Amino acid sequence: MLAQRTKLFASSGTAAARAAAKAAADAGKEVIDLTAGEIWCDLAPRIREGALAAIERGENRYTDTVGLRELREALAAKVSRETGQVWQADEIAVTSGAKQALFNTAMVLLDPGDEVIIPSPYWTTFPAQVLIAGGRPVHVDTRDNGFVPKPEELERAITAKTRAIVVNSPSNPTGVVYDQTTLELIANLAIRHDLWIIFDECYGAFAHAPHVHHPIVSLVPEARSRTIIINAFSKTLALTGWRIGYLAAPKSVIDAVKALQSHTTSNPNVIAQHAVLEHLRHGDGSYERRLFDQLTLARRLGLDILSRQAIAPPPKAQGGFYFYLDLSGLAQRGAISTAPRTADDAVNALLAEAGVAGVSGSAFGDPMGLRLSYGIDHNKLTRGLERLVETVDAWT
Ligand code: PLP
Repeated sequence: MLAQRTKLFASSGTAAARAAAKAAADAGKEVIDLTAGEIWCDLAPRIREGALAAIERGENRYTDTVGLRELREALAAKVSRETGQVWQADEIAVTSGAKQALFNTAMVLLDPGDEVIIPSPYWTTFPAQVLIAGGRPVHVDTRDNGFVPKPEELERAITAKTRAIVVNSPSNPTGVVYDQTTLELIANLAIRHDLWIIFDECYGAFAHAPHVHHPIVSLVPEARSRTIIINAFSKTLALTGWRIGYLAAPKSVIDAVKALQSHTTSNPNVIAQHAVLEHLRHGDGSYERRLFDQLTLARRLGLDILSRQAIAPPPKAQGGFYFYLDLSGLAQRGAISTAPRTADDAVNALLAEAGVAGVSGSAFGDPMGLRLSYGIDHNKLTRGLERLVETVDAWT
């Protein structure tokens, strides 16, 4: 008999989509997998050098629970540059990816029954972690407002139990980048109602012009004492497997995170920490530029191909590396033809008919969305999207 807690979560929807793609491939189908929340790219040279040098030096032991002092200092300098404010090392905790940074945040902020406002569609892990921490996710639907929450709707969702609001911009899965005014309104709302802001900027390095990523505290400095900045190198350096993320927050939060982490994972992997430190100290920015150029080209190629289908409006694709299609139109078509009626059905049909794997919006609280990652090899991306367009055209 397992704990009641296990009923609060299932394996993440994105992992399940990936498993379905792999199962089809293992069964001999030629599958183009557009489910991945990661970028296809070689390793940054400084990461390789930093990791190899750390191994040669014999860096095998525990580090400080929330990361090497030098790494926390380098991250404080990075956050200072990005926000235009001065941050200290004791306002930073290094974690095993952004996922652990978010989990720690939920565990140290929430009491049983506390509510957390999460705009939907949302990244699947946000509500799961709130539930595990004993809180209650409260969703505010953004689909009729271009996937950007209306501040007045957020405000209507606030109750005496609301503790925090999650802001994820650029957004996974929708690819929307919140504009300056929206961020300012959200920050002021949090100040007025005494809420924490959990600001997930894991995709902040990938905002496509004219869209600009604004760290929320740089727009409203008074919100800093109530903001937890969540970030990682998983996406920005294509290092998903290395597991280095961090949070930047008031020292009281970091101290609590440190105590919690000392009883869970202890420090993140020591070699990965040294590798990231080497990159932060000596990287010249050329790797990041190349990665961004690669994504920008993929985005352009993908948008061009997707403009040829008539089943969904063009995806926002303002930031990150996801095309998010709104398949609401399918419901009407399905009524008069054999076309799939839900995103779940569409995902299954795409895998079966076209050998193209995407993630259904149902993983993100949206029964009619479809997420396609463009962080993959350009040839595969082109072939996958062309097949997708042919297939959905046949549904119309
Ligand atoms: N936050 C968002 C919005 C994400 O999309 C992801 C990964 O997909 C994460 C956090 C987790 O990142 P990490 O792999 O660093 O744990």
